[in-house]
Amino acid sequence: MKFINFLNRGFLNLLFPLRCSECGKKLSPDSGYLFFCGDCISSIPFRRGKIKAETYAVCKYEGIVKKTVHRLKYGKKRFLAQTLGLISADFCKKNLESQKIDFIVPVPLHRVRKEERGFNQAELIAIALGKNLNLPLSLNNLVRIRNTPSQTLIKKNERLKNLKGAFRIKKPYRFLKRSVLLVDDVYTTGATTDECRKVLKKVGSKKVFILTFAS
Ligand SMILES: [Zn+2]
Repeated sequence: MKFINFLNRGFLNLLFPLRCSECGKKLSPDSGYLFFCGDCISSIPFRRGKIKAETYAVCKYEGIVKKTVHRLKYGKKRFLAQTLGLISADFCKKNLESQKIDFIVPVPLHRVRKEERGFNQAELIAIALGKNLNLPLSLNNLVRIRNTPSQTLIKKNERLKNLKGAFRIKKPYRFLKRSVLLVDDVYTTGATTDECRKVLKKVGSKKVFILTFAS
């Protein structure tokens, strides 16, 4: 199977050479879904360790990382979610391997927001991550029922109040005694992921790890 994939990619690469999504340099056919050349990969500001207990961020939100997240989110370059998922999977293998995780759950967007953007970037990253870690996803169970204003536009003490009741779990029994890896693209104040974790804990989740691509 791997060999066939390689052949296909090699053939496609002859017709449409893959290029680094950052600097435009031609990529070798075996670069898979990374979409970055070696030089650009080495310019990624990786983080080491946790932000706080059970909360991880893969990279610092600056330079190439910030640019790539913006291109995915606002430039609507969905394929970049593959890159972010692949890099996040590598991070999980190094930092979370000892933890037993039952489901990967993306931080949900409100239905209206998702329709406006056309996709939920956290969901796309979570799908790529699940594929690379061979872990099941739980989609559309944790849902956002209130479309709150952007967290960055309101004062710090208002943030938590603003999120109260914003999330709901449709089938709570699915999370009972399960360990969850909650995935988001960017960790800013942590208010959103913390509120999701609270909701998941309330229905009996055993552990809720948070993984964001950047912080
Ligand atoms: Zn490059």
